[in-house]
Amino acid sequence: MSYDKNNIFAKILRGEIPCKKVYENKDVLAFHDINPQKKVHVLVIPKGEYVDLDDFNNKASDKEIVELNKAVTHVANLMGSKDKGYRALTNIGSDGGQEVPHLHFHLFGGEKVGKMVE
Ligand code: AMP
Repeated sequence: MSYDKNNIFAKILRGEIPCKKVYENKDVLAFHDINPQKKVHVLVIPKGEYVDLDDFNNKASDKEIVELNKAVTHVANLMGSKDKGYRALTNIGSDGGQEVPHLHFHLFGGEKVGKMVE
């Protein structure tokens, strides 16, 4: 699948629509999910144009891959999830339930997250 520059996260990255920012650096943006599924629900995305994790792992630079992974831990700490834990997940494609075609990690926390899959 080729990257759709009009997806909602691309618009957030371009500043065309707002987000509730949690963290940003040169490579990564993190913001609150608009429809939180848990007490804390934050999305961590790369600034580069990657459809999903497979696309990212195939095309991103080593630096981008390291920065995104480090940002997950950094943002989880900002969320206050260092001691009690949290869940990080990414959906890939239609079977994976991905709705927005720009790679994003969901970080859920602030309470017991519950069963892994329905
Ligand atoms: P996924 O199903 O893994 O693609 O998840 C997409 C997520 O993006 C959902 O949890 C949505 O609630 C969230 N979302 C959609 N639009 C926005 C937005 N404008 N700001 C923040 N989160 C959004």
